[in-house]
Amino acid sequence: MAQKAAVESQKKMIDLISLCKRRGFIYQSADIYGGLQGVYDYGPLGVELKNNLKAAWWRTVVYERDDIEGLDASILTNRYVLRYSGHEATFADPLVDCRKCKARMRADHLVNGKCEKCGSNDLTEPRPFNMMFKTTVGPVVDEESYAYLRPETAQGIFTNFQNVIDSTARRLPFGIAQIGKAFRNEITPRNFIFRVREFEQMEIEFFVMPGTDEKWHKDWVEMRVDWWKKQGLAEENLELVHQKPEELAHYSKATVDILYRFPHGVEELEGIANRTDYDLGSHSKCQDELGLNAKVSNNEHSTAKLTIRDLATEKDLVPFVIEPSAGVDRGVLAVLTEAYTEEALDEGKTRIVLKLKPHLAPIKVAVIPLARNNEALVEKARSIKNMLQKLGVGRILLENSGNIGKSYRRHDEVGTPICVTVDFETIEGEGETVTIRDRDSMKQERISIADLSDYVRKFYL
Ligand code: ATP
Repeated sequence: MAQKAAVESQKKMIDLISLCKRRGFIYQSADIYGGLQGVYDYGPLGVELKNNLKAAWWRTVVYERDDIEGLDASILTNRYVLRYSGHEATFADPLVDCRKCKARMRADHLVNGKCEKCGSNDLTEPRPFNMMFKTTVGPVVDEESYAYLRPETAQGIFTNFQNVIDSTARRLPFGIAQIGKAFRNEITPRNFIFRVREFEQMEIEFFVMPGTDEKWHKDWVEMRVDWWKKQGLAEENLELVHQKPEELAHYSKATVDILYRFPHGVEELEGIANRTDYDLGSHSKCQDELGLNAKVSNNEHSTAKLTIRDLATEKDLVPFVIEPSAGVDRGVLAVLTEAYTEEALDEGKTRIVLKLKPHLAPIKVAVIPLARNNEALVEKARSIKNMLQKLGVGRILLENSGNIGKSYRRHDEVGTPICVTVDFETIEGEGETVTIRDRDSMKQERISIADLSDYVRKFYL
């Protein structure tokens, strides 16, 4: 039974990877050069899906709340930021080598202590491997010229804490949200876009009064689970795990992971950590150690005391912070996994349909002229496309492949919720009508072009 489930899961991952490549969602990066391990590129439909997921997150956490500001900080990071944050010393995974086949792997991912490649148990002792990517900045390359590609977006939020308060006059509780790339030199990238070396995160640092942190932590876990459900993930495929004390990151007092049933197993989609006052405190440390107004070099030490005024006591305090940190790429993999469906049709046929939530669908409406070489049909279809594009609901595609059956199949596979077909009745019949076809039910109905904009607007907004 368990073996059958494992085979089915493996098949699902293979089917998904194949669909992603075939239809232009995700490609292996630099595949004409044999690829670069743990790095992927998003194709024409992948970029739409990914942007839609990020936009949905931004809408929920920034636009629909009144207590979160947005930010877009740099990727290149001053090394002292990552020294004081603790990443230089501790952002490491345990690495082991197999003495027999020379494979390298993560000690905490081993099954029964054996090499995952050859099965040998002749392994070296685990040693820490720092996952940060280093690069050099400027024309002189020496010991002093290196910087890091950020391993998480969070530090850019902490280092801008004072700037954001100064320019927005925020009081506790409030948050700062950011979406952006992060880089980790993972020892063993694997499972398609699940564990990669270049990825995107959607992170909030939500600053609260010390003492209210545990309640906020609980609230954020609920809000984030709720959000993932709204992206289409089924409750039975989500799981909450409270990390054990020995698993906690160096900055965390408590972390709850939201796990999802990916094709390769139930693994982390998002982590929600109570980072306490660790980071703001660390970036203020030199001011504590050296004394305020001490003469310090701006490059090697922070010159700030990252505090906020408590209006009740008129005292400055370092707030605690709750961090919901989600992976965009893992989010894309989760919504694809959930949406991928093979449906039995009549006569032993099947259709593949991506049942994505409409707001995530890469193409919102495909407008299909019945015959590709008929100028009048194509012109009409183009004018409908232009009319719908102006609604601002996302990408509207003029699908001029000429074969209506194939077009429907293609749009089922990429998750297009609505197809609009322009046929001879549209241009010759009375009242200018088109056929609309629903992706999930495959039902078709005729509606007038005059009602089409309203239909699409209501469907998406
Ligand atoms: P894991 O235990 O799976 O390595 P993590 O606990 O190190 O993940 P965090 O540091 O909590 O991950 O990062 C927050 C989120 O960023 C994760 O929940 C995940 O969605 C995403 N993420 C982290 N590492 C990667 C990666 N290598 N590839 C893709 N996404 C990642």
